[in-house]
Amino acid sequence: MGECWGEGTATFMILGNICTRSCGFCGVKTGKPEAVDWEEPEKVAKSISVMKIKHAVITSVDRDDLHDQGSIIWAETVKSVRRLNPDTTMETLIPDFQGVERHIDRIIEANPEVISHNIETVRRLTREVRIQAKYDRSMAVLKYLKDNGAKRTKSGIMLGLGEKEFEVMETLRDLRRANVDVVTIGQYLQPTKKHLPVKEFIEPTKFNFYKDFAKDLGFIHVESGPLVRSSYKAKKHVN
Ligand code: SF4
Repeated sequence: MGECWGEGTATFMILGNICTRSCGFCGVKTGKPEAVDWEEPEKVAKSISVMKIKHAVITSVDRDDLHDQGSIIWAETVKSVRRLNPDTTMETLIPDFQGVERHIDRIIEANPEVISHNIETVRRLTREVRIQAKYDRSMAVLKYLKDNGAKRTKSGIMLGLGEKEFEVMETLRDLRRANVDVVTIGQYLQPTKKHLPVKEFIEPTKFNFYKDFAKDLGFIHVESGPLVRSSYKAKKHVN
């Protein structure tokens, strides 16, 4: 369930390990997910306590098969972690919940320190890279989060999938327009031969260029580099 990275930080994937979606970059298995484990929120909270985790990144597979899309387990997990570990901070890397506001509201009400939703790629490549997702819907989710009380929002982009410089800049501008606070920009790496190929390895100087551009747009934190992943230096993004 959890993976510890040292320094008191760990990531937890909830709602099983089979996803209803089939993003072309992702190593998670697609299929019919298992039944929901209603004790999972308590189990995550206990693991965090036993592991003495100071900052937890919680993520999930997408559960388009559930009428609440997993949002109830999501909210209960945040609340259980908070109850048992009041000093642990949390980043919740959430699905788009198909843009349904009452599902998103549950996460906002649970009040984690950071709520993330990754845009992953530029507008033009969204259909190819994450077929069941929509660029504008993800942007709307991010904007809705911030407009409705999320403390801090965050998103991530992968480079090397064939995007052009102007498209990355447009995506960064759109994220800022959605009032996103933190952005991560990293190199896409192909998990297996069946996944989308790497079209380009981006030079570190180009990552620095995007970092400066994003900072000028007003993001509070920008992580940009070949090794950056959405959970890179995650604890720092709370403040
Ligand atoms: S929705 Fe998330 S977990 Fe599911 S395939 Fe896409 S990236 Fe992977």
